[in-house]
Amino acid sequence: MDIQAELISIGNELLSGQTLNTHGRDLGQALSELGLRLSRDTTIPDDIPIIGNAVEDAFNRVDLVFMSGGLGPTTDDITRDALAKLFGQKIVIHQPTVEHLKGWFEQRGRTMTIAATRQAQVLESAAVLFNSVGAAPGQRIETGNGKVLFVLPGPPNEFNAILKEEIMPWLQIRYADIKPQFVRFVQTKGIGESDIVTILENENFQPSEVELGFYPGQGKVKIRLSAQAEHAANVTEAEQTLNKLLAEHLDLFE
Ligand code: ATP
Ligand code: MG
Repeated sequence: MDIQAELISIGNELLSGQTLNTHGRDLGQALSELGLRLSRDTTIPDDIPIIGNAVEDAFNRVDLVFMSGGLGPTTDDITRDALAKLFGQKIVIHQPTVEHLKGWFEQRGRTMTIAATRQAQVLESAAVLFNSVGAAPGQRIETGNGKVLFVLPGPPNEFNAILKEEIMPWLQIRYADIKPQFVRFVQTKGIGESDIVTILENENFQPSEVELGFYPGQGKVKIRLSAQAEHAANVTEAEQTLNKLLAEHLDLFE
């Protein structure tokens, strides 16, 4: 079964080139460990109508949507407002988060400001996902028809902590029947992509059920062979064939 998920990364700073968007890589990797597939990563500005449209569009394609950024205390942090508007829900204060934040400020000898309490605001229907390394918690919002939205803070350490500690265990249970893809790599050196493809075409190398990916860089080409778990044998066979066809060009010390 091919379960697809989408990511919506929110933030003007991602579009203006000030910040490298790392969430797609981290989420793509995490989901593929579970046999799920990140099928799209859309980056959009901090803008309420654009955020609402992006979520609607994503849910027209897939059942599982992740979004990140704009959950902090500043005026440009508008993700909750955009979602409250889209789903017609109230924003409520999550009291356990307020207590957690108070403790956090106390430990540092600081007084908690009104602005800081904004980070304890969540949508009324949200399941709140504890943030062990920062202030704003994540949220899981189930919008009916099996559609699930995960809302995560922007800072990568917070995004990854909530993903690992709160979301992955939930996905593991929900998608317990899904097996991770079976993946193998063959790496070459000193031969260009087009020459590799010519060799493969001449030998009519077209393994069935196996997806091929070519990743060139610095005189080397990494070839990725992947398939659904039930077709693992096709991948192994294709890997052996590739190793023979490209025997003179293999990078064996990688
Ligand atoms: P905060 O409470 O820190 O404001 P937030 O949820 O409001 O968190 P943003 O304000 O959107 O998140 O971003 C906070 C920080 O996280 C910024 O420094 C930003 O560059 C970084 N960040 C946001 N999104 C990403 C991303 N997709 N990849 C890498 N870094 C990101
Ligand atoms: Mg912010």
